[in-house]
Amino acid sequence: MTIGLNPNKVKKKHFARAIELAAMSPSEDDRPHPKVGAVVVKDGEIIAESFRGEIGRGDHAEFIALERKSRGNPNIEGSDLITTLEPCTQRSHDKRPCVSWIRTRRIRKVWIGTLDYNPIIMGKGETYLRNNGILIGRYPDDLQLKILEQNAEFFNYISSLQPSLSSEELENRVETMRDIIKTELLELNRREYLSEDSRSSRGFIVNAYNRNLMMDADNSERWNEIGWYLYNAELYGPAGFAFDTCTKIDVSFFGAWLGLGASEIEIYNEGAKTFTTYPLKKALKHLETAYKLNSEPEKLHYSAWIALFDSWNKVGNKKTAEICAKRAVALNPNKEKKK
Ligand SMILES: [Zn+2]
Repeated sequence: MTIGLNPNKVKKKHFARAIELAAMSPSEDDRPHPKVGAVVVKDGEIIAESFRGEIGRGDHAEFIALERKSRGNPNIEGSDLITTLEPCTQRSHDKRPCVSWIRTRRIRKVWIGTLDYNPIIMGKGETYLRNNGILIGRYPDDLQLKILEQNAEFFNYISSLQPSLSSEELENRVETMRDIIKTELLELNRREYLSEDSRSSRGFIVNAYNRNLMMDADNSERWNEIGWYLYNAELYGPAGFAFDTCTKIDVSFFGAWLGLGASEIEIYNEGAKTFTTYPLKKALKHLETAYKLNSEPEKLHYSAWIALFDSWNKVGNKKTAEICAKRAVALNPNKEKKK
């Protein structure tokens, strides 16, 4: 292969080693994550290597190689970094993105296996590095294909990403959420008599208002949490809004997709008189997304079909309800126990 000026004597075996390391990335939770390997090469020698999650769950390979394993090692300066995935440009607020570690460690050149298909990152990592005077190189073609195969699961679902929201849109959503909750609180406080349900609902909402809205607009976990508070308070519309926001920040959030589907079903049941199949179709789509991301897909898939069966049954579409029931029966997780 031609790799031009190559003072650090990067060889094909180094690229292959990074892929080997990437394969060791442990699964982190119920969501697919990229498998990433990183190798730091200087004068033909590997001076540091790592994979995603090697130290610290979810910690990025580049960060581990350049910081956790190389803190205070002056030899890192001027070396080449080989990474299977484009380095990230943003992480949750308490963490520095990998491009920043690469810059401060004065890496000479970064060899990238593939761009990150996550639209929040794609191309930005490479651009940032170039703008900071760091050279960019690519993997040999055949190895690039290997990386795409290795991350097929991750890339498949990340490519279904909804358009992400700008930080301004996210801030607006926080304001909207505040307004919704304020209105609901006023409404609940106005009532002279509160049933047990309303009382606990109010508790949920007060809690949501006081605790969860003191949050960063881009914190997907908070949006998911608030969604479930609102859902439990039977405020399905606002719950759906919170879940929707969560999936737009983090498409891989299985719980938010599940909540979104469940909310659509409840909205549909509440408004069954104005019959339309659209919310149910949306609900099914959301539930299927959740199903794909869930670590216990059978269980979820079963409850999704049951929920759909209920909904169709309530609006008197027996034929469709029957189809859903059959699917649920076929997947019944208790089937084995009944024998
Ligand atoms: Zn990173």
